[in-house]
Amino acid sequence: MATPARHRARGRAILSERPLASRRAWAKASAWLLNTLIAAGLLALLVDRFVPPQHLPWTALSLDQPPGLFTAAKLDRVGGDPRRCRRFLDANAIRFTEASTRTEGFCTTENSVRLSSGVTALSPAGPITACPLALQYALWDRQVVRPAARELLGSGIRRIEHFGAYSCRRVYGRATGSPSNHARAAALDVAAFVTRDGRRVSVLDDWEGEDAEAAFLRRVRDGACRVFSGVLSPDYNAAHADHLHLDDGRWRTCR
Ligand SMILES: [Zn+2]
Repeated sequence: MATPARHRARGRAILSERPLASRRAWAKASAWLLNTLIAAGLLALLVDRFVPPQHLPWTALSLDQPPGLFTAAKLDRVGGDPRRCRRFLDANAIRFTEASTRTEGFCTTENSVRLSSGVTALSPAGPITACPLALQYALWDRQVVRPAARELLGSGIRRIEHFGAYSCRRVYGRATGSPSNHARAAALDVAAFVTRDGRRVSVLDDWEGEDAEAAFLRRVRDGACRVFSGVLSPDYNAAHADHLHLDDGRWRTCR
């Protein structure tokens, strides 16, 4: 049986071991943290060095990079700020004029521009597009349409024909239901591409088939899905048999 003196001695031993044990635990935790930070730093350096910038969240949006993992988030960030959106267009030598703000019921042209040069010309010229949609058009034009035209059609694109951007209406022009993205100039309906050598590739006439024109249209539709939020083509329904609907809406759709 332990004497009271022995109890006291053991108690003192435990008390004096405690700070030592916690010091060791601290030292271990600090070493682990330091190692983890060094490893994370090295990994970030490697990622930054070898992963293309369009796939990294911390690099700036650039029209010189193809759409990547974080392109949509960067487009949202730049496009979501009216001043930043315009600064970006300016910095990329894309000319535009301000569209006057019209608001009628659920429709508005707030934060809209009319693109005039620095991108493939739209026909009819200068439709009213929300600034974020204009950014998306510029990126799609440069990184999807132009390379696809060179590769598959062997020519540049002189102009892109469209059925309109801003239009004060609900989805499918119905009397009730959700406002269309067109109602805030956040959608563009592309009908045809006219090449520099004078060919006209239209969604209505050239979508079906195995030829270069059909391949081109599918390529620019698929590429649009990596740039715009919503893309609807003839594959979606008969209402889109003659155009590609490209929008900066709330939902991601690619059909
Ligand atoms: Zn549309």
